[in-house]
Amino acid sequence: MTNYCLYCDTLIMNEMDWIKLIFPKRESPLCYKCKEKLEPITENLCDVCSRPLKDLDSKFVANHTCLDCVRWELDARWKGSLDKNVSIYVYNDFLKDLIARFKFRGDYELAKAFSPEISAQLKSLEHDLLVAIPLSDERLKERGFNQSEAFARETGFVTWDILIRTHSEKQSKKSREERLSQQRVFQIKQPSIVQGKNILLLDDIYTTGSTLRQAAKILKQAGAAQVRSLTIARG
Ligand SMILES: [Zn+2]
Ligand SMILES: [Zn+2]
Repeated sequence: MTNYCLYCDTLIMNEMDWIKLIFPKRESPLCYKCKEKLEPITENLCDVCSRPLKDLDSKFVANHTCLDCVRWELDARWKGSLDKNVSIYVYNDFLKDLIARFKFRGDYELAKAFSPEISAQLKSLEHDLLVAIPLSDERLKERGFNQSEAFARETGFVTWDILIRTHSEKQSKKSREERLSQQRVFQIKQPSIVQGKNILLLDDIYTTGSTLRQAAKILKQAGAAQVRSLTIARG
């Protein structure tokens, strides 16, 4: 079988043979050199948002939780909305470029670059409903596809199309307070479906966590038992 790296086009046939010997189930559509540039988030991370804690001053960390997450939980409007976020990689320069090529330049094939890791996480994070964070109609038209749905599709998992984005992503240039006080970013199509359910949200990047919390909050209000999120990158 001939394989080319999805990112740099290097022929990875030979390499695949010896990697298969060592990691039989970890075939990657990226060559070894590209794969090496991805930094998996594995240890010493925030219990809530998966932020790597190693570079944070200890005064910004309390009980394995970063102060951003402490602050979210102290805010009555957001307390208990998002139970946990799991991120796979640090949002480093290489990953930024990879995601930009995939998302903004429409290189859909690159969704495959994350499939083995996403698939492993989706299996380990038990859930009743997998929900991709939707784009606004306007953004979907610009891009042609929803990146979060693409991730799920490439792993063979089915997503539930239950959220509608009612505000454009373009408002994200606003300040944190402005964004948070915005009425509603999402609506639920069929609220009865989420009652008592364990929901897993899927998105590309966790940056401030506000988008995911907007979605989590409305799902909790509709009766969801648990809402967690899986993201490729922790910004
Ligand atoms: Zn490569
Ligand atoms: Zn955190």
